[in-house]
Amino acid sequence: MTRYICIRDDDANFFTDPAELRKAYGENWGRIPLTLAVIPFVHGSDAKILEPGGLEGLLEWEKSASPEELERYNALHPAGDNEALAKELSGLVREGKVEIAQHGLTHRYASKGPELMNGFVSAEKIQEGRRHLEETFKCRVGVFIPPGNMIDERQTLELKKLKLNMFSSWPVWYPSVRRRALSYIRYPGTVADVLSHRLLGNTSPVRNYCGVKTIHSIIFDAYDDEAAVFALALAELEKTGFTAIATHYRHLLKDGNAGKFAALLRRLGEIEGVKFVTASEYIQKASGK
Ligand SMILES: [Zn+2]
Repeated sequence: MTRYICIRDDDANFFTDPAELRKAYGENWGRIPLTLAVIPFVHGSDAKILEPGGLEGLLEWEKSASPEELERYNALHPAGDNEALAKELSGLVREGKVEIAQHGLTHRYASKGPELMNGFVSAEKIQEGRRHLEETFKCRVGVFIPPGNMIDERQTLELKKLKLNMFSSWPVWYPSVRRRALSYIRYPGTVADVLSHRLLGNTSPVRNYCGVKTIHSIIFDAYDDEAAVFALALAELEKTGFTAIATHYRHLLKDGNAGKFAALLRRLGEIEGVKFVTASEYIQKASGK
C-alpha cells in the first residue's frame, strides 16, 4: 500500500536567499518534493514579528516608529523582484520537485494577529497575488496557506470563489456563535463532513471547511523533536495512509533544527510504501480515497 507524505515550508518571500533554502534542506533540496508557501507581496511585519516581544511588541513599535521607519515597514515587496529566487524555484517547479503555494497576500500582522484575521482581503487581491506567483514561477497555483494557519470564516468564501484548496494546521476561526451557525446553514457540507468523521469513521484527510477543500499538517516547529513528530506522522499514516508536516526554512536554520528535520525525513523515507508528494498530488490522491 502506498502511503503519502507532503512536506510544506512557509514564508519564502522577496527577502529569501535561495542559499538559505539549500542550507535548510541540504541533500533533500531538489530531491524530496516540497510545497513552498510563498508570500506574494511581503510586508515588513513578517520579519518584525520574529523579534522579541512578538505581536504586542510589534504593535507598540508601530505606535512609536518615525514616518520614515513606517514607510519602509509598510512597503510591499513582490517575490518576483528577487530574480535569484525566481530562477532557482522555477527550475525546481519545472522538474516537479517544488510546488508553489500561495501564502496569504502580504503576511501582514495587525491587531487581531495574522493577515486573514484582520478584516477583509478580497478575492480580487488574493487573485492578484496568485497571478504574481504564477507569472514569477511559471506554474499554476491551486493551494492557499493562511498565514499563521489562521483564517476567519468570512475569508474562506474568497478562497471558494477562486477555487483554491486550503492547507492549514488549525480549523477555520468563527468570530461568533452566530457566525458559526450561519456558516453551517450556508455550507451544510461542513456539518456532513464533521459528522462523517466523528460518527461514521470517515478517515479522509481532505476536509470540507465552508465549501473549501482543506488538508492539515503537523507543525514540526512546535516540537523540534524528531521522535515526537515521527510518532505523530506514523500514527496518521497508519490510520489514513496520509500525513503532512509543515516547517519554516528560517526555523530550520536555527539551533541544529535542519539536522533534526533531515533525520526525520530519513526515518519517514524508510517506512514501507512511502511516497513524498506535493500538496496538489496529496489532495488529488486523498480526494479519491
Ligand atoms: Zn507564514
